Amino acid sequence: MPAEVTLTFDNGPDPATTPRVLDALAARGLRATFFVVGEQLARARGLAERAHAEGHWIGNHTWTHRAPFGRLDDVSAPHREIERTQALIGGLAHPDRLFRPVGGGGELGPHVLTPETVAVLVAGGYTCALWNAVPGDWRDPHGWVERALAQCRAHARPLLVLHDLPTGAMDQLERFLDAALAEGIRFTQALPEACLPIVRGEVVRPLDRLGG
Ligand SMILES: [Zn+2]
Repeated sequence: MPAEVTLTFDNGPDPATTPRVLDALAARGLRATFFVVGEQLARARGLAERAHAEGHWIGNHTWTHRAPFGRLDDVSAPHREIERTQALIGGLAHPDRLFRPVGGGGELGPHVLTPETVAVLVAGGYTCALWNAVPGDWRDPHGWVERALAQCRAHARPLLVLHDLPTGAMDQLERFLDAALAEGIRFTQALPEACLPIVRGEVVRPLDRLGG
């Protein structure tokens, strides 16, 4: 059976790229989640407003995206980076207060969270949205499509991470979407539970392997 796939777009919004991503999704009636970086949002808030108005969900992906929290020697960074971004997202936020930590290349591991990060997420009632399919669009702007299709076929419930960044990768988004739809893959906006270790401030899955 073809998988049901959740689409997410990280690190935007980007004035050159995000409108094209929104156009491609709208043309196919698809909805996704955009995990925005605060610094980017401050420069291009209108794009997040458009995404929200078109039914996409807006999540928090830190203020600066400088490194995974576990690789920063700065225990106050999680509070600052998460809360400042959430304040700027404001009324565009999903009610579950979606937050995605910086992965630093897509690997899940003890660098992703820290005890301080978990404390901020719990205190703030956030939902931590991880991932299970990272085709590496930013490092392979053309070839990511075949990898993404293979990951969608291989995984029971893929949560795909793409990036609305000006890498050229989103030139291939329509090719990916149409190939996926042609082989019967269905897209859903819902985030798979297995990728949500913290839901509305409650820790529901072990965090030790994530550094939490
Ligand atoms: Zn990112």
